Amino acid sequence: MRVTHNLLTAIMLLVSATATAPATAADTKLAAEAKMHLRIITKIDKFTNSDIHGNAPDDISVRTYMPDIVQSLSVFSPNVFKKIALRRVVLCQGLWYKSQSRAAIADFTSDALYLDLSKSSYPPEFVKISIAHELFHMIDYYEDGKLYEDNSWSRLNKGPGYGHGGKWVLDDRYSGDLNYTRPGFLNRYSTTGVEEDKATLFSYMIFDYPMVAKRAEKDPILKSKVTRMKTLLHSFDSSFDNNFWLKLSR
Ligand SMILES: [Zn+2]
Repeated sequence: MRVTHNLLTAIMLLVSATATAPATAADTKLAAEAKMHLRIITKIDKFTNSDIHGNAPDDISVRTYMPDIVQSLSVFSPNVFKKIALRRVVLCQGLWYKSQSRAAIADFTSDALYLDLSKSSYPPEFVKISIAHELFHMIDYYEDGKLYEDNSWSRLNKGPGYGHGGKWVLDDRYSGDLNYTRPGFLNRYSTTGVEEDKATLFSYMIFDYPMVAKRAEKDPILKSKVTRMKTLLHSFDSSFDNNFWLKLSR
C-alpha cells in the first residue's frame, strides 16, 4: 500500500513538474516559427549560395541564444517577412562570405538570413542588433530595389560623403563604438555607406529606441534621419505605425 502511495505521489510530482517545466529552446523555436511563418534552422548541412559557408552551431549556443533570437524576430509583423521573402533564419558557428568572416549575412538569393552565434558574445547584445541590421538591408532592397543609393537620405548629411562600404572596416572593432560624435551618425560604421547608415540606425531604433530618441533631441541631422526612417518603413508596411514605435519607447 505504501509502495503504491509513493508511486502515486511520484507520478503526481512528475505530472506537475511536466506541466510547469519551462519551455525548452525547441519549444520556443517551434512556437515562434508557427507565429512568424519562417523557419529557424539550427542544423544546416548544405548552403544554397556557394559564396556563403559556415558550420552548424553547438546545442549550448542554440539554447543560449534562442530566446534572444525569437524575441528579436517577434518585434516584426509576419507580413514584413513575407514582403522581404525571408523564409529561413540560419544559425551558424563560424560564418563566411567568400573568404571574409561575417557576423551575419542577408542573402537575397536564397531567402535567408544567416547569423554567426560564435560572434554574439561581443558585445553581448550583438545577436539582437545583427538581426535587425540584416533585416533592414532586406527591407531596404525590397522597398525600391536599391541598396547603395538613396540621394534624399544622403542629402540629410553635412560634411564629407560616405566611405567605401562596411566591408572595409569589418576588422575594426571600434567602428561600432557609440561614442562617435559626428552629427547625424551613431557610430563610425554608419559613415561607410548610405546602406550601412540606414541599417545601423534601424537596428538601434529597434534595439534601444529611447537611446536613439535621446540623441536625436540634441542632433537635428539624426532627428531628420529618424523621421525619414519612420516614413520609409511605414510606406513599406503599415505595421510600422506610431504604435510600433510607442511600444519600443517604453
Ligand atoms: Zn550592413
